[in-house]
Order: sequence, then C-alpha cells, then structure tokens
Amino acid sequence: MANTELEPEERPKTLSAVDAAIHACRRCPIGFLANTAVMGEGPKRAALMIVGEQPGDQEDRAGRPFVGPSGRVLDAALERAGIDRRQVYVTNAVKHFKYVQRGKRRLHQSPTTKEIDICRWWNEAERAIVKPQVILACGGSAVRGVLGKSMAISRARGRPHPLDDGSELWVTVHPSYLLRLRDEMKEEQEALFQADLAAVTERLAELAG
Ligand code: SF4
Repeated sequence: MANTELEPEERPKTLSAVDAAIHACRRCPIGFLANTAVMGEGPKRAALMIVGEQPGDQEDRAGRPFVGPSGRVLDAALERAGIDRRQVYVTNAVKHFKYVQRGKRRLHQSPTTKEIDICRWWNEAERAIVKPQVILACGGSAVRGVLGKSMAISRARGRPHPLDDGSELWVTVHPSYLLRLRDEMKEEQEALFQADLAAVTERLAELAG
C-alpha cells in the first residue's frame, strides 16, 4: 500500500512509535537493502526541524542522522549561525540508506521521486509530533519530502514558504553538495548556505517574539 493511502489518524503518535514503525517499514525497495532505519533525533518539541535527504553510510552504521562528513559541515555552520543543534530536531526525508555495493564500499544512490513520496508519510508523522514552527529542508530530496512536490532551491531560498499545518518551510542546499565543490564556487555556495542559516536564526528569533 502506498503511504499516501493511509489516513493521518493511522500515523504513530509518539516518536518512539515512529522509530519502531520505520524499522519495520518495507513500503519501498530501499527498506529491503542491508541497512537500518535512521530515526530523526532531537527534542520532542522543537521550533526548528532540519530535514536532509537520507542517511549516508556513517549515519546508517551509527543509527543517527547527520553524523558523517555532511553532518560535520552542518554542525559547523549551525554553530556559526548561533543555532544549538541540541535544540533542533534533525531528520531525513527518506529513513533508510539507499546504496549500491562496490566491493567493500557502499556507494550512495539518490532516492527516486517515488521513494521520497512514499517515505514522506514518516516525516509527516514526525512533524505532527514535534510541531516545528520552521522546517529547513536541505537539498532537493528534502524539499520534495516536505512539500510533496519539487521546487528549485535557487529560486526558493531566502524566504519562508507557508505550509498547511501553519509552519513554514525554508530551503537550502544539502551540506554534501558543498563537500563536492572546489575553489570560488565552493566559497560562494558556502556563503549562501551560511546566509540561509542566518535567515532561519533571524526568523526563529522573530517567532519567539
Ligand atoms: S525508505 Fe522509507 S518508505 Fe522506504 S522502506 Fe525505508 S522507511 Fe519505508
């Protein structure tokens, strides 16, 4: 059954129940790989939720989101922006690590649009519990996972996008994108990423009144 066929009242009502449910989930092919579901982490109620694409190799092994190289980029940028990660609920649009095996290495594979759309039901369950005021989606898959449709980050960043539940979506690139860049392009994109986090910091302060 596609997740979209399930009613909101069928969703788990606690984070621990979501955690158990995603570990049992095999609603898309990614769940049949040799991996483990990675639940979001953070306070049960958080003003800010950060959504990435999917767990990477290190996240899959650790069972925690954003702990690999991308996580280190995110952590450093959050610190510079004055955001305490411990106050943030950090999660992914897709809960299992999608990869292809090459020898001993597991190489990241992007989830398909269909896989993201199926898995977004779980992030909706997290959102219904955590009730963030601001959601920062990092990368195109995360945007799709939150919105249920695609949106160009270059055109959408730097401003809020109201969501049906009263929260607002902000968008930026995924930190892994910054890791792949070099020279001026890297500096330019890192500055934009930092500016996106600064805008979120400012917005959170406004909302806190
Ligand atoms: S990736 Fe998401 S939808 Fe697919 S099996 Fe894992 S939890 Fe289920």
